Amino acid sequence: RPTVMWFRRDLRLADNPALAEAARRGQVLPLFVIDPALWEPAGANRRWFLLGCLDALSADLDGRLVVRVGDPVEVVPSAAREVDASAVVCAADHGPYGRRRDEEVERVLDGDEVPLERIGSAYAVEPGTVVNRTDAPYKVFTPFYRAWRDVGWPDPVQRPRSLEAVTGIASDPLPDRPDVAADLPEPGEAAARRRLDTFLRHRVERYGELRDEPAQDATSRLSPYLKWGCLHPRQILHRLGRTEGEETFRSEVAWREFYADVLLDRPDTTRRAYQEKMRRMRVDAGRRADERFAAWAEGRTGYPLVDAGMRQLLGEGWVHNRVRMVVASFLVKDLHVDWSRGAHHFMQHLVDGDLASNTHGWQWVAGTGTDAAPFFRIFNPVSQSKKFDPDGDYIRRWVPELAHLDRRRIHEPWTAPADLFGDADYPEPIVDHAAEREEALARYDEVR
Ligand code: FAD
Repeated sequence: RPTVMWFRRDLRLADNPALAEAARRGQVLPLFVIDPALWEPAGANRRWFLLGCLDALSADLDGRLVVRVGDPVEVVPSAAREVDASAVVCAADHGPYGRRRDEEVERVLDGDEVPLERIGSAYAVEPGTVVNRTDAPYKVFTPFYRAWRDVGWPDPVQRPRSLEAVTGIASDPLPDRPDVAADLPEPGEAAARRRLDTFLRHRVERYGELRDEPAQDATSRLSPYLKWGCLHPRQILHRLGRTEGEETFRSEVAWREFYADVLLDRPDTTRRAYQEKMRRMRVDAGRRADERFAAWAEGRTGYPLVDAGMRQLLGEGWVHNRVRMVVASFLVKDLHVDWSRGAHHFMQHLVDGDLASNTHGWQWVAGTGTDAAPFFRIFNPVSQSKKFDPDGDYIRRWVPELAHLDRRRIHEPWTAPADLFGDADYPEPIVDHAAEREEALARYDEVR
């Protein structure tokens, strides 16, 4: 009897322990389910990327990938019945929705006496494994990181040498690839491997030094591939040595693992502040807040680095990490809009949109999360710009109206004489950072 290999966020053949186990047992039905509950909120960029990954995976499986559309609670058991499967295997999902879904699928499969076996996960160290001396999850990154390294991870498993796939099982018609405005990366496992190779060969050496500068192509841009499992973090970690760049890179990969752990412990935090007192924080809503939110989302706040970042989000479905922090801080502390609204907007556009990293990236900046920047640490959009985009090249790329300004004026175009500014159609700052900073601190005093 065949084994159903249920692919979810592990769209690869190499180092896929669940797939390796299924292949070892004999005939395999490789299955992916497009779940409307996840498909709808994913946004066009992630849908486009996912469909590309499925095409690539299917090609790697000689066209044998079966894709079905519907609720996995019905679709997975029905596919298992169709081939009289002996088991369904998959990598464990630790997100709030995924865990619930898997329990329901498991219950239905149980009725057919078919086990759902969870083998591996999307993380080097399975979320929930790293605990402190009192068996509790860590709330601070650095001790988590040390303990996480001590737990360690197994070597990557080989890609199955041969895979005997069940034949004659029909796929549902796939949704059309959405029209996307953004310039997105090439999907799939082979593209992920090439990107990793290039990064390790040419960029990791100076990663520690340059990773904060958005004008440099200094980071790996592996996030969309990690999101869909075209690449497993183990495949990265086992190739990293001990140079400074490699050490820094390893700890960044660990942030992703930390946030998955935090979300497992506190699934309620996708919607509300991790820190209870911060739930009472006064935030703005209503027409003025809506207008300011729209200006932020469209990249016309009048603060060049903020606008460049928000336009990169629309243009590439990806934003440099430093700039994610700056734009998030601006929304929360200069515009006083609730962080969850910004997080939702990010999830609609990011090609790497990941519930755990996004939620807790936002909560970190908002000062509401675990191990967060204290609320009173407020990013200054102009000094961040001068420090991390000193020549203004990142701004020039995304805000071409300002491209003619020199490296001094470009960070604060309102200081440029009118004749220098010419007729460039660029807005005045929609708020005064210094004043809004005071307002943010006053609101913080109310809940502290
Ligand atoms: P690199 O610098 O090359 O890092 C390598 C990998 O490490 C990344 O691909 C990522 O998997 C992981 N990583 C690096 N930094 C972080 C971090 N701070 N938190 C968690 N993982 C990290 N990352 C996402 O993958 N999805 C998101 O939805 C997401 N939303 C974010 C929202 C905000 C407000 C902030 C501040 C950060 C968010 N991040 C998110 C984290 C980080 O910005 C991205 O992972 C990173 O920019 C991806 O680019 P890269 O692959 O070139 O990163």
